[in-house]
Amino acid sequence: MEYEKLPYVNVGYSNTPLEFLPNLTKEIGKGNIYIKRDDMTGLAMGGNKTRKLDYLVEYALKNGYTALLTYGGVQTNHGRLTVAAARKFGLRPILVLTGAKPDYCSGNLLLDRLMDADLIFLDTSSLENLPEAEKKQATEEFMRKSKEKIFARYAAQGEKVLDIPVGGSSSLGAMGYVHAAGEIVRQMKEQNIQARYLVAGYGSTGTFSGLVAGAKYYNAPFEVIGIPISPDYHPQEEAAAFIESFSQEYELGVHCKPEEIHIEAGPAEAPYYGVAYNTPDPITQQYIALLARTEGIFTDPCYTGKVLYGMVDLMRRGVIGADENVILLHTGGTPALWSKEHLDDMQKQFWCDDRKITVLKP
Ligand SMILES: *Cc1c(COP(=O)(O)O)cnc(C)c1O
Repeated sequence: MEYEKLPYVNVGYSNTPLEFLPNLTKEIGKGNIYIKRDDMTGLAMGGNKTRKLDYLVEYALKNGYTALLTYGGVQTNHGRLTVAAARKFGLRPILVLTGAKPDYCSGNLLLDRLMDADLIFLDTSSLENLPEAEKKQATEEFMRKSKEKIFARYAAQGEKVLDIPVGGSSSLGAMGYVHAAGEIVRQMKEQNIQARYLVAGYGSTGTFSGLVAGAKYYNAPFEVIGIPISPDYHPQEEAAAFIESFSQEYELGVHCKPEEIHIEAGPAEAPYYGVAYNTPDPITQQYIALLARTEGIFTDPCYTGKVLYGMVDLMRRGVIGADENVILLHTGGTPALWSKEHLDDMQKQFWCDDRKITVLKP
């Protein structure tokens, strides 16, 4: 079906603000820096996944599904927003989380509990000590069997469960970011903003790929740069093939070659993705503090904090030219600031002796 004719619901708000960041721009001293606030999509503290869910929820409702099931890490933002969307539209929310059940409930997980989602932890810790090849096989088998078991369980309860992939990055979900690209192009015209680059996170790639295709479809004046948020990021070929496939499925009429996929992973000694997926790291924390201190805007430790580091570093190193303007896509995720592992780690940098902290006693 043609993209323009695809129906969608409004899971969250669109037309999020596109704004100039005067203080960060002054601090970096090059080009103009803008921010697209997709952390402000409203529902359940907002984030990029609501735009994908606009299309996915419409599909679920139209086709008689009674439940939404999706996957992710224990602190998945996509999970939190899928649960919220399910609640808003009267569907049953089910999260399949890879990892052991933590002893302490924090961040997104607490929000999932407040929304009373079904939580299923796939805990493979007992396979940890197997030899690598054996472990891989046993893990795959466990995942496959668990999935069968879970779907059988809900079918027996009379539920029709929509199986939403990690990050909501199906072809249909990616349409949310084709749409967002059109919105950004329109806002730039309305506000007379010129920008050479749009910098966005590169995770399950629905956001990035949707933006790249949308930029072509709407003749955007900017190029999209993807910042990987994990060391084992999807190769360029996969993103290009994904774009080719959904462009055909939804008749976008755009094409994409692997060499058009612009990814910047940063210097080998300090890559933008930090240590590992959702692992606290001091550099990302410094950049979170930079935007907080200059503009009073919070980014998150798993995604946008890393993208911010990447964007500023590319400007400092001249990969983004001194007179070129850039838009940072804020994709949300701020509840992760209060996940236990990040809270614990941030004590080191932000809860130390500091002349800004005064204690008065009688
Ligand atoms: C999921 C997510 C991303 C990455 O989007 P993908 O479409 O998975 O690449 C970026 N930022 C936040 C906060 C997210 O939750």
